[in-house]
Amino acid sequence: MKFSIIVETFEKMENTTKRLELTQYLVDLFKNTPSDLISKVVYLIQGKLRPDFDGVELGVAEKLAIRAISKSAGIPIKKIEEVYNKGGDLGHAASKILEQKTQTTFVKEPITTERVYETLYKIAELEGLRSQDMKMKYIASLLNDATPLEARFILKILLGTLRLGIADNTVMDALAIAYTGSKENREPLETAYNVSSDLGKVAEAIATKGLDGTKKFEISVFNPIRPMLADRVKSEQEALEKIGNEFAAEYKLDGERVQIHLKGEKVVLFSRRLENITSYYPDIVEKTPKILKARDAILEAEAVAINDDTGEFLPFQELMHRRRKYNVEKAVERYPITINFFDALYLDGKSCLDMPYSQRRKTLEDIVTEDNFARLVPMTTVKTESEIEEFLENSINAGCEGLMLKVLNAPYRAGMRGSNWLKLKREYRNELGDSLDLVVIGAFFGRGRRTGRYGTLLLATYNDNEDVFPSICKVGTGFTDENLDQFYQLLSDKVTLKKNPRVDSEMEPDVWFEPELVIEIVASEITLSPIHKAAKDIIRKGSGLALRFPKFTGKIRFEKAPEDASTDQEVVSLYKGQKKIKQEIGQA
Ligand code: ATP
Repeated sequence: MKFSIIVETFEKMENTTKRLELTQYLVDLFKNTPSDLISKVVYLIQGKLRPDFDGVELGVAEKLAIRAISKSAGIPIKKIEEVYNKGGDLGHAASKILEQKTQTTFVKEPITTERVYETLYKIAELEGLRSQDMKMKYIASLLNDATPLEARFILKILLGTLRLGIADNTVMDALAIAYTGSKENREPLETAYNVSSDLGKVAEAIATKGLDGTKKFEISVFNPIRPMLADRVKSEQEALEKIGNEFAAEYKLDGERVQIHLKGEKVVLFSRRLENITSYYPDIVEKTPKILKARDAILEAEAVAINDDTGEFLPFQELMHRRRKYNVEKAVERYPITINFFDALYLDGKSCLDMPYSQRRKTLEDIVTEDNFARLVPMTTVKTESEIEEFLENSINAGCEGLMLKVLNAPYRAGMRGSNWLKLKREYRNELGDSLDLVVIGAFFGRGRRTGRYGTLLLATYNDNEDVFPSICKVGTGFTDENLDQFYQLLSDKVTLKKNPRVDSEMEPDVWFEPELVIEIVASEITLSPIHKAAKDIIRKGSGLALRFPKFTGKIRFEKAPEDASTDQEVVSLYKGQKKIKQEIGQA
């Protein structure tokens, strides 16, 4: 398949932000793609070579790319840097330079998608001493045969700057339309994606075996399952109203969610956002085969930092010291953890997803051998407000955040947030009753003590209907000096020249960022706003919602993708909840 078909689609996509148009371009592209290539095309349109959990990363540095362009075009590095500095986009710069070159050389054989993919894959896999030179040669050879437009997108993929604004849902819509004629058939694709987290694999199934292929999709160990998520409730009473009668209450531990995959002696760990985090927890890897009476299994647990002397739980921040590439052994010693199991998704060749919660819990009890390191999350069944209250009290006393309330006969709904699981946090840290996880979309430079760093951040919610990030507030409170340095470091490689097409904001900060980093915020109130875009037109026509007196809690939510941030819907329900409370107080 000619690579030009793909890049022509990319170019059209870059020029629209309308989801319907994006979907149609994808449908046309998929229809032109042979089925043995579809998975690779699906990865490429998302700027990847494999699903995220595989950890295949291109990560080519700009410097190396510039050397490759120089070699391919026979133009000095300085010249390329000049063109690049004028425009600010290396892909465009390469395309301009090569345009001049193609006018003077003869036309080559068109490059194929297969060749581009294979070469990029080789580049990603190269390691070691001479790898930089080899990478440079591979890139230059691709650029030699590429048209200027192809070169532009090859560079964007290599540098990790291809951002076409295509959400997973858009890809699934387009696959359903391309292969079955209608978006209505998306559900089996979604289910298949939820149990495999691999859109390429889903695409291949529908392209080669049709809808039936996606319906027969099976869980496989080492392919992470998208996690089930909880709705939040503010009181025991609200929980009872939502899930009635009798349900399970578990401690909500304040650690990191870990999906543990075991086959024989091999253990692989995935985070909440399905990154491979095996290297951070050598202790879990070593102990899991001994703890579990199982041949192969996929289990969920919360890793929590503990005080080694007392065995008490420590807050989430302590655990983040484990996130390092070097000296992991030392960190394991300095920051000991416990692993607290709360769900069983797969056991010895069989999926547990359709089992009711009570049976999955029983399965866990049967296979986990508890000791100082491995435990089952404390659980009880509750029926009344006072029973919930009592268990909540115990959980807070044990250093937990609150409770998870789970419907006893509900299956595990992978990838879904819903009311079969509820979270109830005790600590009303602010008048809103809960914190929000917001995406950093821009910043204003600081003054005084904050000069040279970002003094104020512009934040957004996630609008999952339209797949955009609408602004909700500016925040400049709650930052320590260390936070300010950390933000500057973390955000400086996310700076973009223009507002990202998925960002919706009328405010103009000093710098825009790729919407990637998620931070936790508390606030005193949610108000209607003429400027901010979160939940626009929902409460009142022409108004959005904004946070009053927002404050950073100190938590950077590394484990959350921007699409996991608080949604407009959540903000609307908090807004309505606060109005209700106000009315009740007014009446009293
Ligand atoms: P939060 O911001 O409250 O941590 P979240 O968006 O990460 O929430 P939710 O599904 O809303 O995810 O809340 C559940 C989270 O709480 C899980 O991701 C997990 O990390 C953690 N957790 C702690 N204890 C439990 C438990 N017993 N059962 C399920 N999840 C638990």
